[in-house]
Amino acid sequence: MKNFKKAIIAVLALAMLFSLAACGTKAPAESGEPSTAAATFTTVTDGVLIMATNASFPPYEYYEGDKVVGIDAEIAAAIAEKLGLELKIEDMEFDSIITAVNGGKADIGMAGMTVTPERQEEINFTTSYATGVQVVIVPEDSNIKSVDDLLADGASHIIGVQRNTTGDIYTTGDIEDKGLGTIDRYGKGTEAVMALKTGKVDCVVIDNEPAKAFVAENPGLKILDTKYIEEQYAAAVAKDNTALLDAINKALQELIEDGTVKSIIDKYIAA
Ligand code: GLN
Repeated sequence: MKNFKKAIIAVLALAMLFSLAACGTKAPAESGEPSTAAATFTTVTDGVLIMATNASFPPYEYYEGDKVVGIDAEIAAAIAEKLGLELKIEDMEFDSIITAVNGGKADIGMAGMTVTPERQEEINFTTSYATGVQVVIVPEDSNIKSVDDLLADGASHIIGVQRNTTGDIYTTGDIEDKGLGTIDRYGKGTEAVMALKTGKVDCVVIDNEPAKAFVAENPGLKILDTKYIEEQYAAAVAKDNTALLDAINKALQELIEDGTVKSIIDKYIAA
């Protein structure tokens, strides 16, 4: 509700969206579509779409100079453009994103964020725009050969994860809660990888694409062939802002259908 009060109401009639699109160099999104439901939604700041992220998650979000770039940054920019909003990116710990969105500090959270039933109780997720896989990073000479080694009877590894990510949630349930090892939680993926390099942890469980980027930067590490779990990424929107959720879903659907999302993903991830 605080979010709601603070918010400046941005009323954008669909007609206006269409006229904006028509003025631009791009073709109108769906010119034949009747402008029935007016696109009325709230943003924290008038005319601005604030995206909360954790910019140490390449290739989804990372710094190039002082600018946050990556798949999520570009998809968010394309969504903002369709909605006639200016995109502003706020970098924070992954752990703080849902709170920022619910507390009205950000309009959306985009951070390679996995859709989970627990998170769905706190926030709404948009349509999924990408898939991720939890993988295991180990030193090249590690005696951990597969995910099963982490789950085996009598296992007692120290596993590095990013705090409150699905890597943390799954390993806590499958390993720590069963007395099969200890979970060391870090604010950033890079910090977990540093702990692996210095021998503080035996492996790191993290999403596959950042894992590839971290291994490429750190000789002596490798990713196990076996996958831990597959998941869907989506953007998070506050529960009480269903109008914004609908508007983003509509924009996202168009960006998926016209191939924009795929070309953004392909640009960052070699097929
Ligand atoms: N996909 C994982 C999650 O949602 C990790 C995301 C991240 O670290 N940015 O928990």
